[in-house]
Amino acid sequence: MRLTVASAEARVLVRDAGAHIAQTVHALIDQGAHVDVHADPSSIAGPLADLASRRLVRIVGEPDLMSYDVVVRDLRRGAGTPTRTREPAPAGMGRVVLVGGGPGDPGLLTLAGMAAISDADVVVCDRLGPLGVLDELDPSVEIVHVGKIPRGESTTQERINAVLIDRARAGKTVVRLKGGDSFVFGRGGEEWNACVDAGIAVSVVPGVTSSVAAPALAGIPVTHRGVSQGFVVVSGHVAPNEPRSAVDWSAVGRTGMTVVVLMGVAALDSIAATLIAHGMEPTTPAAAVADAGLPSQRVVRADLAALADTVRTHGLSPPAVAVIGPAVDVLHKAAAPGRSARSVTG
Ligand code: SAH
Repeated sequence: MRLTVASAEARVLVRDAGAHIAQTVHALIDQGAHVDVHADPSSIAGPLADLASRRLVRIVGEPDLMSYDVVVRDLRRGAGTPTRTREPAPAGMGRVVLVGGGPGDPGLLTLAGMAAISDADVVVCDRLGPLGVLDELDPSVEIVHVGKIPRGESTTQERINAVLIDRARAGKTVVRLKGGDSFVFGRGGEEWNACVDAGIAVSVVPGVTSSVAAPALAGIPVTHRGVSQGFVVVSGHVAPNEPRSAVDWSAVGRTGMTVVVLMGVAALDSIAATLIAHGMEPTTPAAAVADAGLPSQRVVRADLAALADTVRTHGLSPPAVAVIGPAVDVLHKAAAPGRSARSVTG
């Protein structure tokens, strides 16, 4: 991983000095940072002793964490060699791999996804993917964050496409790491087309989509024999009562299938009211799952008519998935698959 500190003159504390300490320190000093290393001053040896004798770092035994702008870990502590060595892509032969990273827990990243990440020279990521796995990468891997915060700061899709193409043209193997699956509201199709149009080789590694994983982690199967013969995944980004809504919500409500709404927290009142107005029972079981798969995961359950209020009362915020339909209540308590749902009943 290549570490970038946001401001010159930053005071940086490096913890757990390991095999890459010299590279880490030089990278930080090159950016103008003042670097301290947290280590037992009586036992330093090897590259760390060399750095200290050249006064490139100060060794501190008991650091005051509040006095640093940034605290980082020197990765691969100990004599470790990378578990997988990366062959540099041959010059002029860069490529892009669209990797679906699952809902955020590194355990839900596929083996193929992890293998692609391990082979990458560059990883372009945003906030919903399993960012924890990036800590383990070789220090030479460039990490580009192109965060998209709902209704907030974002990197335009054009800019993201340009980064992918630019790095691949420079001969790099580029992983575009997404939350969930790249082709489920992930704009993976746009990135694919931009690569093909630019003559860049592109491939995809499917991911575990939150539209199935979030319900599952809350103990909700999206289909269940005799209860729900299918499921509809729909974006709630544009509320049904907005003129630019392109979803036929009356049709969604009539399918008799489980309805899974992504990006729908803000529009939940309007979504529930519309589904009820088009014939769905107000007492239809419903749930919302926020931060699925993460330690902060939260689940609320309520009748459809009360779901938006319940979500508000319990302060659930995006990313969250709403699930509507009788399948929400179908699992016996002791039989919940995977991790047990940290459930709040509304
Ligand atoms: N490609 C992603 C979806 C991207 S759209 C996928 O396949 O999962 C972003 C929306 O995904 C969020 O607004 C939320 O509805 C859902 N989402 C993604 N990660 C989530 C998580 N860990 N918990 C709950 N919802 C999540």
